[in-house]
Amino acid sequence: MQILDGKVCSDFYRAQVSETVKKIIALNEKPPRLSVFLVGDNQSSAMYIRMKEKACRETGIETRTHVLSEETSEADIIELIKKENADSQTSGILVQLPLPKKYNETRILSNIEAAKDADCFLPENIGHMFLGNKETVISCTPLGVMKLLNYYKIDVAGKDVCIIGRSNIVGKPLALLMLAANATVTICHSKTKNLPEVAKRADILVAAIGRARMIDETYVKPGAVVVDVGINHVEVGNGKSETCGDCDFEKISKVAGAITPVPKGVGPMTIAMVLYNTVYNYILMKKLDIKMDIGPKF
Ligand code: NDP
Repeated sequence: MQILDGKVCSDFYRAQVSETVKKIIALNEKPPRLSVFLVGDNQSSAMYIRMKEKACRETGIETRTHVLSEETSEADIIELIKKENADSQTSGILVQLPLPKKYNETRILSNIEAAKDADCFLPENIGHMFLGNKETVISCTPLGVMKLLNYYKIDVAGKDVCIIGRSNIVGKPLALLMLAANATVTICHSKTKNLPEVAKRADILVAAIGRARMIDETYVKPGAVVVDVGINHVEVGNGKSETCGDCDFEKISKVAGAITPVPKGVGPMTIAMVLYNTVYNYILMKKLDIKMDIGPKF
């Protein structure tokens, strides 16, 4: 059974980002900048932001983080987003979700200029992704999954792929990318009947559910590739918690051909793809003559 190591793989793609940033600077440009909005005191969000800031620093991307209290008005957040839209060095804008409940997420996100969307959350960019246009960013986690499979030379063409989860940020865009890569895709969700039976037909099974260790060996065809997108924090007593995926790693590893661990699986790939999108946006914005292979090689 092969471990699909997201840390090793993300290091590979981050090195590519780093090389591209060097090429940008060699053209007398400023480094691309990722501007991040952290609103409220969600500890997980703060941790993700620190990881993204560190990853940016290590690849030469500049960061600017707006740490805002929950008292900040929606109008003030939008005003700051507009300032970032107008800043020619900022090529990635990211509002860390979830926002505290009092805010209208859709309204806030819709103020990000499409050309600076680091997550591919905006309808315009999702539309470009749907149409298969090359000059667009791609949803980070799905792109990270495709690049991870690509790195390990797992060809998805002609394979039966089952994705459990249909969210706008993982399940749906991943289904699009898999389809573009010539997989035969089944999307499952909470209303799917006979889920283990459906999942067990898959050559590649992706779990993006948000239910700790829900998927065990009864969902997995012997030899299948299992991609665990889930990140769950479970109490282990004494006020401590541990991070685990949607898959029961121990049980599945007895039948699967390959599996991504949690942590150090899809998570680091998502971060690497935020960097990718930020640098890719910069190249497009400034019309630079630098090649960057944003999409996985289908
Ligand atoms: P959502 O809550 O938006 O979507 C969860 C999906 O799982 C829904 O489509 C839901 O079905 C489905 N689902 C829930 N329960 C079941 C069930 N019992 N059986 C079958 N399907 C079920 O989650 P996200 O897509 O945002 O995230 C999913 C997981 O991935 C989370 O753990 C999240 O933390 C993690 N994540 C990890 C990332 C990474 O970088 N590794 C990035 C983003 C997310 P329905 O639509 O019917 O409600």
